[in-house]
Amino acid sequence: MSDIIKQDGFPYAFTPSACETCEGRCCTGESGYIYVTKSEIFAIADLLEMDVNDFAIKYLFKKGYKYSIKENKVGDSYECVFYDKESNGCQIYKARPTQCKTFPFWDYFKTRVDELKEECPGIVDV
Ligand code: SF4
Repeated sequence: MSDIIKQDGFPYAFTPSACETCEGRCCTGESGYIYVTKSEIFAIADLLEMDVNDFAIKYLFKKGYKYSIKENKVGDSYECVFYDKESNGCQIYKARPTQCKTFPFWDYFKTRVDELKEECPGIVDV
């Protein structure tokens, strides 16, 4: 099968086609942090054609020495402000943060595969 992504050192693989039906569970759910670096902040502001300070005030909050993208509370759940339910996609996809690009291959999940499987239907054993 070609629709499977594996990464060295990870005890699972990922099937991207699962995203079509999962309703953005990696961008919604429990509240969390969506960290952005300085260069990512500039890239997203640029994509949105916004002044970087206006962008930061509107969409970011500070967590320790880092910045995270804000979330919207939707019922009992939370959604990244850039998650678009209608299109089931990310409104800043081209400039999305590394944290989003590298999901589900996060060190955190290497030893928490069951937790990851609950969040993402695209996870398969290797
Ligand atoms: S920035 Fe995009 S990919 Fe990342 S959590 Fe938000 S909607 Fe999802």
